[in-house]
Amino acid sequence: MGGVVGVEDRVVARERPDRHRVAIVGGGASGVLTALQLLSGSTDSALCVTVHEATGVLGRGIAYGTSDPRHLLNVRARHMSAYADVPSDLLDWARRAGRDPDPQGFLPRMEYAAYLQDTLAAVADHRLTISAGRVEDVVPVPGGFELRTRDRVSTAATVVLAHGNQAPQGLSIGGADLTDLPGHLPNPWDLAAIRALPGDATVAIVGTGLTAVDTAITLLEDEPGRHAVMVSRHGLLPRAHIAQQSTAWVSDVPEGPLTADGLATFVRDQVAAARAHGVDWRAVVDGLRAPTQSIWQRLDLDERRRLLDHHVRDWEIRRHRMAPEVGARIDGYCRDGRLVLVGGGVAAVDVRGARAELSLPALAEPVLADAVVNCTGPLTDVTRSADPLLQALQGRGLVVPDPLRLGIESTPAGDVFGADGQVVDGLLAVGPPRKGTLWESTAIPEIRTQAAEVARAVLARTTA
Ligand SMILES: Cc1cc2nc3c(=O)[nH]c(=O)nc-3n(C[C@H](O)[C@H](O)[C@H](O)COP(=O)(O)OP(=O)(O)OC[C@H]3O[C@@H](n4cnc5c(N)ncnc54)[C@H](O)[C@@H]3O)c2cc1C
Repeated sequence: MGGVVGVEDRVVARERPDRHRVAIVGGGASGVLTALQLLSGSTDSALCVTVHEATGVLGRGIAYGTSDPRHLLNVRARHMSAYADVPSDLLDWARRAGRDPDPQGFLPRMEYAAYLQDTLAAVADHRLTISAGRVEDVVPVPGGFELRTRDRVSTAATVVLAHGNQAPQGLSIGGADLTDLPGHLPNPWDLAAIRALPGDATVAIVGTGLTAVDTAITLLEDEPGRHAVMVSRHGLLPRAHIAQQSTAWVSDVPEGPLTADGLATFVRDQVAAARAHGVDWRAVVDGLRAPTQSIWQRLDLDERRRLLDHHVRDWEIRRHRMAPEVGARIDGYCRDGRLVLVGGGVAAVDVRGARAELSLPALAEPVLADAVVNCTGPLTDVTRSADPLLQALQGRGLVVPDPLRLGIESTPAGDVFGADGQVVDGLLAVGPPRKGTLWESTAIPEIRTQAAEVARAVLARTTA
């Protein structure tokens, strides 16, 4: 990043937090976009924004930290601007770097990290500090909070939690822990471990979502001797994007009480109506993106639960789509017989020397796997998280899980609820942790809006 950004290298003395001090925990996309909005939204020279990032490198996080250039954004470039009100910002950045990006295309995700870094550097000044290190505890003190890493303590009047996605929960079958399996790879985003597998490896990929797709590409693209079996209960892959249609489809969401089954029928009816007009189902799904948060909030808890239990898979594979190039690669591996996709889950697992033997109800023969990659998706239940910060925050009653264990309890505006059911003054959240409240809370178009709103609320506190 540009040299304007100071890197904290000292132990900060304990002091009563100045109201201008803002700490952001997590320097992935959510943290960077929040810092960007704070710095660009205020000229107050007393403002002091510290981004605490465990890796010390901003902008990457899990999604954009990939080192495989074939891992593409799953959202079109024209929708990935850091600023909702400047849709061309990412494209302009790419043009300044001498490229000719297709606004409808899908850029490599690693480039997006560079974009976030450059965009933050462009607004960064003495008011921004990057603190390399994992925040392990946040302790309420008069006037704010103390943030504790392994070797330092700092203070802030306001803390924004932007800790993002958790690693997947450990694999288990029928309650039996599979993490000791030979060749078990618990972290699907550890591409070095995937690349290091033998050139003739047979690999079981558990999960069939977008991370499983990434894993298949890194595993299979450069090593024609490798094979993979991708398995989940439903065995459904994300659908692929197609060339952008010029026709939009706006669905009038019904008034009055909503039910999960009623919503599913509504979406099916809209898809049928669109098809009758020659419009692809993707336009219906995309048209429902904007009202999704309000639809979710109109459902009561039982209906949200029913949606998750019965309908969410059908929605998710259509909502979170692969870039067309990515879909073509996956189709190619399947055609060549190097990738087998199955549903029905894993019935049993045995150890056979250095390999794991997986019995899959969908296949006549068991799979003898040199490696088993856990691609079951980010763990959202904070009560099961091994993350020291999440454990500490819950222990202090500063954070509680939402009832569906999708994230943490917060208001729609991002104020965090404590164990006493009250908003914790000065503690806010941006990004995936707000999924329980908003459902749509994990992609850039939503995160950049949240970052702007949270920044406005935080700046109002610093000047109060
Ligand atoms: C594989 C993948 C691909 C995706 N692709 C897209 C896409 O193409 N388009 C899109 O819009 N969305 C995509 N998403 C959605 C993604 O969730 C968001 O776009 C966004 O990257 C989330 O950023 P984040 O900062 O909230 O979380 P993360 O990316 O998880 O980053 C969190 C950061 O916080 C740091 N951190 C965590 N805890 C602490 C702590 N206690 N102390 C200090 N630092 C801490 C971590 O080191 C990490 O850098 C993708 C998600 C995944 C998982």
